[in-house]
Amino acid sequence: MASLPTMIGELRSQFMRELNEALTSKDLEALKVKYLGKKGPVQSLMHELRHATSEERPQLGKLINDLKEELLSHCDHSLHRVKLQEQNARLATEWVDVTLPGRKHNLGRAHPIQQMLQRILDILIGMGFSVRYGPDVDTDYYNFGGLNFPEDHPARDMQDTFYLENGLLLRTHTSNVQVHAMEQFEPPLRIVAPGRAFRNEDISARSHIFFHQVEGFYIDKGVTFADLMAVMEEFLSKILGEKVETLFRPSYFPFVEPGMEVDVRCTACKGKGCKLCKHTGWLEILGTGMIHPNVLRNGGIDPEIYSGFAWGMGIERLTILHYDIPDIRYFTENDQRFLEQFP
Ligand SMILES: [Zn+2]
Repeated sequence: MASLPTMIGELRSQFMRELNEALTSKDLEALKVKYLGKKGPVQSLMHELRHATSEERPQLGKLINDLKEELLSHCDHSLHRVKLQEQNARLATEWVDVTLPGRKHNLGRAHPIQQMLQRILDILIGMGFSVRYGPDVDTDYYNFGGLNFPEDHPARDMQDTFYLENGLLLRTHTSNVQVHAMEQFEPPLRIVAPGRAFRNEDISARSHIFFHQVEGFYIDKGVTFADLMAVMEEFLSKILGEKVETLFRPSYFPFVEPGMEVDVRCTACKGKGCKLCKHTGWLEILGTGMIHPNVLRNGGIDPEIYSGFAWGMGIERLTILHYDIPDIRYFTENDQRFLEQFP
């Protein structure tokens, strides 16, 4: 067996060769553990001391300790240097130019339809109405039958309907909430029901297959047409931001009797005639009427005791009039250049 000093010399040479090949901090950490760990060769040399005589032992012990210190010093020194190099290399790829301008983050904002809807609801809640939501997918009864649309009545053809399976359909108006609400609550009822409606129409600048409506209705003892007119005029003046002149024209909707369409004096030209009002001086704004006795009966309300009125309006239509928007399709295209115009 070789003498301890020879073994120490060989171990040192072997270590130095491996040290030169250790290029990364990971290599160096591994090398340190390999040589100086509990099961490493330096520790083994310590065990070899048992075979030395008591005279040799202190001197040999010092040689091994010196080797241990030397290897440790090499490892730590190299580790320090390599870690610095590694850090510099990383910084070189991760550098940040602090003089660059910051990234612009676009702030989200409410869609113009939602903004208009919120304005409408704020006004109506202020007038004592409460908000109810109804299902987009409903039965023929809640969308038509309960609202006094007789079977095979041509009025059903007025609203091209998306029919689904199992007798379900996409509601063609938010009026379905009327029947649901009457079934659930006792009068007096002052309810406003916003939501989406769907109709199977060709998509164009003026019509879309879905749109938003606000339905409102008021049922109590002794509600008259004068109440209807007063609430409509108050509501329209608030939503259009000025005292408006209204025109009530007779119209037909199966769920009201009498039915009316309400026009307001054109807010752009004050009635002189312009592009917005198609030179009529009036803007069609909503449909309304006294709730048909059959509808009250269907909702479990006695028309001999109670009466009420209802109205419905398209939110897209109102938004288009308010901002003079030329094409209804802008609302669904999500073009930021359009949406950014409604802060
Ligand atoms: Zn006009």
